[in-house]
This record gives sequence, C-alpha cells and structure tokens, in this order.
Amino acid sequence: MRIDRIALSGFRNYDEETAEFSPGVNILRGENAQGKTNLLEAVYLLTGAHSFRTRFDRELIGFGCDWASILADVDSDGREQTIRLLFRRGQRRTVTVNGAKKTSAELSGVLRAVLFSPDDLYLIKEGAAARRRLMDAAIPQLRSRYAQLLTDYNRLYENKTRILKDWREKPRLLDTLDEFSDGLARCSASILRYRASFVDRLGELAAPIHRDFSGGSERLSLAYRTVSTVTDPHAPAEEIYYQICEHQERHRQAELDAGQCLTGIHKDDIDILINGVPARTFASQGQTRTAALSLKLAEREIFKNETGEYPVLLLDDVLSELDAGRQEFVLNRIGGGQTFISCCEDGTIRRRTGGRVFAVRAGSIRREE
Ligand code: ATP
Ligand code: MG
Repeated sequence: MRIDRIALSGFRNYDEETAEFSPGVNILRGENAQGKTNLLEAVYLLTGAHSFRTRFDRELIGFGCDWASILADVDSDGREQTIRLLFRRGQRRTVTVNGAKKTSAELSGVLRAVLFSPDDLYLIKEGAAARRRLMDAAIPQLRSRYAQLLTDYNRLYENKTRILKDWREKPRLLDTLDEFSDGLARCSASILRYRASFVDRLGELAAPIHRDFSGGSERLSLAYRTVSTVTDPHAPAEEIYYQICEHQERHRQAELDAGQCLTGIHKDDIDILINGVPARTFASQGQTRTAALSLKLAEREIFKNETGEYPVLLLDDVLSELDAGRQEFVLNRIGGGQTFISCCEDGTIRRRTGGRVFAVRAGSIRREE
C-alpha cells in the first residue's frame, strides 16, 4: 500500500503542484503554515474518508478557486490505481478510480492510511468522541459497509433529533418518530458489532506493544462500552437490535422531555485500563501518552493483519511532541510501510530514518537531494 505520485490543483494553499514519493519514509520539512498538513490531508482524503480537519469539502478548495482536485497514483494490493477526487463549490465531491466513477464509500480500501497527530496523544484523557473517532476512521477502511452504515446513522440521527427538538410546536412530527428510532436501532446493531470486533483486535495488539514500551511493567487492556441493554456486542445483529429497541423504549419519555436523542451508538466509548484501573482517571501524563502511542501503533498492525499490507502512516508533527525515548520507540516500529513525517526540522529524523526529504514552502513541494 503506497502512494507513488500526487498532483494537487486548487487544493488549500496549493495552486498546481506535484510530488513523487518514496515507498519508505518521506519527510515534509518546512516552517509553520507552509502546507505540510495540507499535503497530509490530501493523502488522507484519498482513503475515501472525510478530512481529519473539516467536515466541509468547500474548505478544501483554495481561496479564489472554483474547484480543487487531488490526483494520485497508488499501489494497492499489488495493483497500480489512479484515484481522482474533485471538489466543486456547492456540489458533491466526485471520485474516480482508473476513470470509473465511485462513491466515497467505495473508495474506502483502495488506499488505506492511519493518521497520527499530536491530538492523538490526548486520546486517553479526552472525552469519548476522540475514541469514537479512532474507530470511525479505521473501520471504514477495512469494512466498506461500515462507511455507508455511519452515513445512514448520521442522517437518521439528525432527523430524529429534529423531531425531538420541534415536536412541541409541530406535534405531527411524532408520527414518524418510531420509524426513525427503528432505523437507528437497526443501524446501531450493525455498527456496534463492527466496533466490538475492532476494539477486541485493537486490545490484543496494543497490549504487547504497551508492555514493551513500559519495559514490561504495565498491562494495557480495552473494553468496548455501548448501549447498556446490549449484553453481548458479538451476538447476532437481530438480537442486538431487540436489545437496543428495549433501551429506546425505556428512554422514550426522557428523550421527549429532553428534546434530545439519548440512546444509540453515538455515545459509545472504549474503556482503557492500565494494570486494571481506568487510565482516564488514574494514569500519569507519561502513561497516557505511552498508551495512546500503543493504540495508534496497534491500529497500524490491525491493517497489516487484515489486509497483508501496512497502511500509509501519516505522522503530522507528532515526533516533536515526544521525548527521545518515545521518538525512538515509534521510529523503530514504522518500518515495512510507507510513512509521511511532517516536521519543522529534518536533521535528526532524516539521519535516523534515511527518508526522502521534501521542503514545503508556501504551497510548493521541492525534493531535496
Ligand atoms: P504548521 O507547521 O504550523 O502545522 P503547516 O505547514 O502544516 O504548518 P498547513 O496547515 O498545511 O500548514 O497550512 C498552510 C496554509 O494553508 C495556512 O496558512 C492556511 O491559511 C492555508 N489554507 C488553509 N486552507 C486554505 C484554503 N482553502 N485556501 C488557501 N489556503 C488555505
Ligand atoms: Mg501542520
């Protein structure tokens, strides 16, 4: 899994720019606000996902431009493929693979990437949304149906939320409430089974990494937490569906009173324990960083185990946030796949990785010899 070439037009601060990447380590070096993260964002968008910075495609289009495009040659499962994304103001994005039109969901899996940014270092201490983001960024790249389920879930959730908010002024809205609740229960049942398996695998792979990282002294474990009536998240979807309906029934009046959707997988979380106690509450700063790094490195291993290939790894400014020991640990574990590292300096990282260096400056990408 790698990206060989990219061409950007009207994308963020890039007018027209191209670059050819190394199959190993690529270092994007440059001052602040030059376009390093923009380039990583372009690579990430090729996975079919939404940007890790914005929900709005219009923000990707360069100031003063009507459209933006990202064209890339990638090697995926041993096949050369050309992906093109086109973003036009006021229109849906267009995706083509080898000239054939695809949906964003169909693009998932053509190029797979794992992003690692300084925000991820707070994965453990932050609210549940950060841990849901981890699941929702990874799973669609491995299970294309998941992307569609999430889209459907979000649409149903918005509709239900609107009904719960406005039903007092427009009581007729209540006629369709049950229909939306039912749709949400069905989507939730499928989504949570995917999430439960992912968290199991993540836990299995993160535990040995964290053990190594902590010199053998710490035991990291994960548990998926979802709607409380669900007794076994691996049970058949039909069984889970009935358990979610039961939860909805119990909370029906509370939802009407609160004017909000109180039940569903949008509240899911991952419990993260170190030596049996919740890391979010008890772990030190250093321990939570180490655990976060272990989770991100484990995420990369899941992709490798599932697909036989390492995903493209995007390290956005993360190394400068780490002490020497943790930097070394990460750099020692990123072999075997293509990696992009953005940073403000190149000296030590270049020496330690032997990577290809690109100077990124005011929307230009220049390879350094
Ligand atoms: P840092 O080291 O501070 O993280 P960076 O090199 O990663 O910097 P980027 O986040 O890539 O910087 O942003 C580079 C510039 O792109 C910023 O100055 C930003 O204002 C500009 N920019 C963002 N969106 C657009 C857009 N849609 N059109 C034009 N320029 C944009
Ligand atoms: Mg940046």
